[in-house]
This record gives sequence, structure tokens and C-alpha cells, in this order.
Amino acid sequence: MTKKRFIPDRVPIRRQDPGDRIQNFSEVALGYSDDEAQREAERCLLCKKPLCINGCPVGIDIPGFVNDIVEGRFKTGADRIKMENLLPGVCGRVCPQEDQCEKECILGRKGDPLAIGKLERFVADWEAQKGELDVPRPGRKTGFAVAVVGSGPAGLTAAAELAKRGHRVTVFEALHVAGGVLTYGIPEFRLPQWVVDREVSFLSEIGVEIVLDFVVGKTATLDDLLGDYKTVFVGIGAGLPMFMGIPGENLNGVYSANEFLTRSNLMRARSFPVYDTPVKRGGKVVVVGGGNVAMDSARTALRMGADEVEIVYRRSRVEMPAREEEIHHGEEEEINFYMLSNPSEVLGRGERCVGVRCQRMVLGEPDESGRRRPVPVEGEYFDLEADVIIMAIGTRANPLLPSTAPELKLNRRGYIEVSAETMGTSIPGVYAGGDIVTGSATVIEGMGAGKIAAAAMDSYMRD
Ligand code: FAD
Ligand code: SF4
Repeated sequence: MTKKRFIPDRVPIRRQDPGDRIQNFSEVALGYSDDEAQREAERCLLCKKPLCINGCPVGIDIPGFVNDIVEGRFKTGADRIKMENLLPGVCGRVCPQEDQCEKECILGRKGDPLAIGKLERFVADWEAQKGELDVPRPGRKTGFAVAVVGSGPAGLTAAAELAKRGHRVTVFEALHVAGGVLTYGIPEFRLPQWVVDREVSFLSEIGVEIVLDFVVGKTATLDDLLGDYKTVFVGIGAGLPMFMGIPGENLNGVYSANEFLTRSNLMRARSFPVYDTPVKRGGKVVVVGGGNVAMDSARTALRMGADEVEIVYRRSRVEMPAREEEIHHGEEEEINFYMLSNPSEVLGRGERCVGVRCQRMVLGEPDESGRRRPVPVEGEYFDLEADVIIMAIGTRANPLLPSTAPELKLNRRGYIEVSAETMGTSIPGVYAGGDIVTGSATVIEGMGAGKIAAAAMDSYMRD
């Protein structure tokens, strides 16, 4: 008779206390110590057919790096991940592992799946603390030049993969800092900027040149790039904010989440008074939406000195698209949630917003996303006071680059059409991936697309 192996519970991660952390922008989750990481890694069954890898869009050798941790080879573990993913510190922190690798992990059938994301972060941080910086060496030079537009996760991954194959890669980025949403969107308390900067610097190590303050569609067109580069990858994201189109939305004090987070992160409003970036802080804040962007906006407003923060979401908690961990953190930080509620009007006094009128909703039949559709309840409204209102209801494709490249085929929502196998667009030699193709998605999905495109671009150039 084979003996059943006893699997202990998941090793919990240490976190800053909610009362302390709302006073600062430091990271909430503190990471594993060496001993904690090894105890967690020992839970892995090192399956012969590891289901977890099926859930990873970039195909990391998960049991391989977990076994490295068990055996104390932390550096080898970090290197093993970097073979497939040059952003392990980023992914270990923000990937929705609960819907990907950890969802597939066999341990999840009877208990907690392995904490794959936390272990990925552990080896990345361990390497950073030791000051070591090893990246896969690029292959033999091919003499081909490639342009990558946008330095978010999709562009960075495409660039890294192309450089590893020996091509000369130049990344063109519109902003003055690289990283895309990782830099201007996701706040410091979830993803410290040093982690992004360090992992972006891996690209320079493998010879990628990053040109900042360069807007394709303005500084140069896609056609201009095609004159100088054999192929181009477009990873420009989908950062154009959406509004609800309700009365009063243009009053002072109403922000898009994109603007609010950019002011806090990129323009350093979070470091007041060292940086005096104009942004309304304090008072009562209402955030509209239920995704990661809404949670980040609410928790940022709290840390910037809001007296009270409320989230208004038109469905129920079950349908919230934000990561469960982040919703839980928001609840611990005493953010109030108004579920099944939808703003119908922003209330103002003079030029300023002073509140928001919301209509109550119920859940109807599932819509095309599979989530139950919110249905307004006739005549049922309530008002919330608000000095600041942050709209986090989604974003759209940025039209600047496509508007200067008429041959680039778009779908009816303005996203670039590509072949799913190659990420090739309607223009020969031009590839695209990430949010500009799928609409707002995830870091790892953008990276997966960058990887597929890089392989196809490599074949195209060598043909
Ligand atoms: P982006 O990250 O948007 O990068 C595009 C880059 O292209 C930008 O740097 C932009 O400046 C540049 N660019 C745009 N136009 C031009 C141009 N014309 N010329 C040159 N450069 C240009 N995902 C997760 O997996 N987990 C999370 O926890 C999570 N939280 C999020 C929180 C927030 C606040 C936001 C906004 C998103 C979050 N996401 C999260 C989603 C995730 O960040 C995106 O899916 C991902 O960043 C998309 O990557 P990308 O490379 O396609 O685009
Ligand atoms: Fe380990 Fe889970 Fe992957 Fe099996 S499925 S190798 S237990 S992480």
C-alpha cells in the first residue's frame, strides 16, 4: 500500500499591518524569508506532468525553479525563470496566479495550491538583494534591426526575445520613463518602482536600446520606422480613459483613474510635499469601478490622505474583476464598498463636484462576458458625498499611432487586428500584441503575446 503524503497548509506571507500601511506607500506584502520560501517550496509534488505550466502564458519551468528553492539554489532558480520571463519580480507581485498557474496546480484540488507567485518573487528579490545581475546571453548577431513601439510588458518581452535571438533592437517609448502601466499605473505599495527599473535594466544588459520621449505617430510614423527597421512590434497599450457620459462628469474634482494614478506615481504626487504635483487630496473620495484599477485608485487616494474612500460598483462582489488579494487588502484598509450601484449624475456646487447620485441595480442574466448583467431598479437612487470622484470604468485603444498608419487594420473597437498564431498585422513586417490587441488584459498575457510575436518576427526576417 502506498503511503499518502501529508501536505501542510500554505506558508502565509507577512504583510504590513493595515493601520500602518495606509500611512505610507511601502509595499503591503513583505515577501518570504529563505526559510519560509523553502518550507512553501517543499509542499510541491514536483509532478511528472506539471499542470501548473499549462496555466503559465510564458511557460516557466515551475517545478524546476521550485526544486531549486527546496535545494537552496536560489540563484539558479532566478536564472531558470529568466530563461522564459525577464520580469520575475514584476510577475511574482502582480500576475493573477490564482487564475493561471496556481489555478491548475494539483494541490489546489484538496487544499491551497502552491504559492507559485510568491516563490517567483522570492527568488527575484533574493537575487536583487545579493546585487547579482545575470541575464541570458544574446545569440550570434544577425545584422537585422528591429523597432519596438511601447515599453510596457508586451514591448519589453518582444524586445528581450528578439535581442536574445541576436537582432539589434530599439524600443521607442512616448513617456520619459520605461515600463508602461508597470510604471505609471500600478502603485508603489503593490509594485515598487525599483523592481520595474531593475528588470527593465536587464534589457540594456542584453543590448536593447531604449529611446524615451519618442511618440510614434508624432515624432516619426510607422512608415518612417519601416524605412529603417526590417520589422516593427507595436505594443502601445490601451490607455485612453473612458467616462460614463453622465451629467456633471466635467466638474472639477472628477478624474479618470489613469490621470489620478499617473499624477500619483509618475508625477510623484504621492511624495508630497517633496513633489507638489497638483491633485486634489483628502476629503471624501468615490471611486467608480470594480477592477484592479479601481482598487489601486481607492487605496492610493487613502494613502494620499482621504478621510473616507468608497467604491461604487454596478455588479456584486463575486463579479468584481479585481484580484481577490487586492479586494481583501482594500477591505482590511476599511474602504467602503457600495455594490449593485451605478452613478447616474455627478452633483456639483459651482464648478466643483460635491457628490454623486447612484441608482440601485440587481443582477440579471449573464452577458457576453459570462458575468450576470446589472439591471437598474426603477426609481431607486441614493446620494454619496464626494470631494473627488475617480472613474475607473475601463480604457480604450489609443488612436494616435493607428490614425497615422491607415493600412493598419483595426477591429470595430479600434484595437489592432492580428493573426493569433503570429501576432502579424495587416502590414507585412508589422506585429502587435498586448492591450492594443486584446483591450485591457494582464501583464503576463501581454508578455505571452510579445513572445509569440518575437518568434514570428525572427522567422520573417530569416526567411
Ligand atoms: P502598456 O503597459 O500600456 O504599455 C504601453 C506603452 O506604450 C506605454 O509605456 C505607453 O506610454 C507607450 N506608448 C503608447 N503609445 C505610444 C506611441 N504612439 N509611441 C511610443 N510609445 C507609445 N495586470 C495584471 O496582470 N495584474 C495587475 O495587478 C494589474 N493591475 C493594473 C493596475 C492598473 C492601474 C492598470 C492600468 C492596469 C493593470 N493591469 C494589471 C493590466 C496590465 O498592466 C496591462 O494589461 C499591461 O500593462 C499591458 O501591457 P502592454 O505592454 O500591452 O501596454
Ligand atoms: Fe508543483 Fe503544483 Fe506544479 Fe505539481 S502542479 S509541479 S504541485 S506547482
